[in-house]
Amino acid sequence: MRVSRIQLEKFMVKIARTREEEASCDDCAQLSAQLVEVLLRGDAPNEELLSILQHLEQCVPCSEEFLVLKDCVRMELEQNWPTLDEMWNKLDQRSAPPP
Ligand SMILES: [Zn+2]
Repeated sequence: MRVSRIQLEKFMVKIARTREEEASCDDCAQLSAQLVEVLLRGDAPNEELLSILQHLEQCVPCSEEFLVLKDCVRMELEQNWPTLDEMWNKLDQRSAPPP
């Protein structure tokens, strides 16, 4: 990722400042794809996306989905796109209860 440590620290300060405006799981689902793209490009997230980042820190189901999404977007960027079946399998594994 091209985001530098200093940039990340700035994000953290911004996150701390936006704590009042908490994103919901719905917001997260709507904006997570956009957030992944911004992060993988190394751009600075806007206020709205920062509140999603904050939500991801606190919400385990959303953060797990986000990781899968991030994997998918990265594979797309690397031209290593899995089949739809592979993607579903991945999501199934994530959402399945522990054995
Ligand atoms: Zn959530």
